[in-house]
Amino acid sequence: MEDTICAISTPVGVGGISIIRVSGDKSIEIVNSIFKGKNLEEVSSHTINYGHIFYDDENIDEVLVSVMKKPKTFTAEDVVEINLHGGIATTNKVLEILLNNGCRQAMPGEFTKRAFLNGRIDLVEAEAVGDVIAAENENARKLSMNQLTGKLSSLIRKIKKELLELESKIEVNIDYPEYEDLEDMTQSRVGKSLNEIKDVLEKMIEESKIGKIISSGINIAIIGRPNVGKSSLLNAFLGEEKAIVTDIEGTTRDIVEGKLNLNGMTLNFIDTAGIRETEDIVEKIGVDKSLKSIESADLVILVLDGASAISEEERNLMDRLAGKRHIIFINKSDLESSIDIKEARNAVRGNTVFPEGLDELKKKIKELFEIGEMEKKDFTYISNARQLSLIEQVKNNIESAITGIENTVPVDIVVIDIREARRNIDLLLGEVFDEELIDELFDKFCLGK
Ligand code: GDP
Repeated sequence: MEDTICAISTPVGVGGISIIRVSGDKSIEIVNSIFKGKNLEEVSSHTINYGHIFYDDENIDEVLVSVMKKPKTFTAEDVVEINLHGGIATTNKVLEILLNNGCRQAMPGEFTKRAFLNGRIDLVEAEAVGDVIAAENENARKLSMNQLTGKLSSLIRKIKKELLELESKIEVNIDYPEYEDLEDMTQSRVGKSLNEIKDVLEKMIEESKIGKIISSGINIAIIGRPNVGKSSLLNAFLGEEKAIVTDIEGTTRDIVEGKLNLNGMTLNFIDTAGIRETEDIVEKIGVDKSLKSIESADLVILVLDGASAISEEERNLMDRLAGKRHIIFINKSDLESSIDIKEARNAVRGNTVFPEGLDELKKKIKELFEIGEMEKKDFTYISNARQLSLIEQVKNNIESAITGIENTVPVDIVVIDIREARRNIDLLLGEVFDEELIDELFDKFCLGK
């Protein structure tokens, strides 16, 4: 029998209400022992009950207690939630009383972990619980809800079902070769099915880029030589003094990060100033170095000083940016211009003093990432690295099976790859799992979830 766990599920601090959640076989009994009101062991499931928490004859708080009996609860165990007056002292006191009366403090994410271990949700859905909480904008919220409600899982299960069918058909053929009326899983037929599955997987992998961007935001690197106005642009975007703006070259030391919500998408600005700390990126350019630093960015904004001519280094950089999503911001349009906008591809002219050109810059970002088209998307994407790496492995297994077929390897050998693909799907859904990996995954959750 699992022990009974408890945790404060609301943020710690002063608020109208805080909630302590208790889960496990003894949750109703333990809360009942400190509760004055109806006998909680006799009330119906899924009821809210008014009363008081009493301890050592002292009335600790006036509360509402939700009693939810298994199995239809978040953890699939008996769950009790105590709604008490928000406030640090009262909440901590009630938690302490529970701990003194047989509950154990829950680890971060332990409620969700129990929901997973008790089979109420699969691993993809469990991860989505964390994502729903972490969602910073509308699109991330939609994406995580589609994962939480099982839309992504059912897509993955469909692939698993197809692999299973394929596998069993092949096995029937192997086991009963004498039955001629059994569907003959000829190599070409197996190959055709495998190719269809591969197409679906490739689409999932391709679309996971959208998923990643929706859930983590678009990483934007603002680059350019010193003093062109990178920090000023960042500040103008964020509308606050985030980066230190100075006209002494190379004095902005930290990588300054700021976030902006653009039509439900998070823009993560990474000022490359910190990169200058080691060696000046554009001075040293050899172009490679700065390109390396921006490799991980989803979008690069190259800032040019519009009041001075484009340098040789900047031209090189512009050439090298060709294969990357980028925008060139010709800054300092308030000064006399030394750059013709036609000299740069994908350029926006503006300045950070008034400021001007920012709306056009945002419009370009929207176009590059099809942000305006987001509403039409179905938000059923893989969005985390664990899921993506497993889907990639499934694809590799399928590809290996296809190669086997093409080289007329017997189907009973090919079936080994198909089985491996299915095993990787099981890992993805958490139907088989590694204990340590699961612990690591739930450790990242907040307390009380
Ligand atoms: P960084 O080194 O590229 O981050 O450049 P900063 O943002 O620190 O700006 C360098 C200098 O250029 C500062 O003195 C800014 O006030 C100035 N500056 C930035 N943007 C503009 C602009 O649009 N017009 C003018 N006239 N000066 C600017």
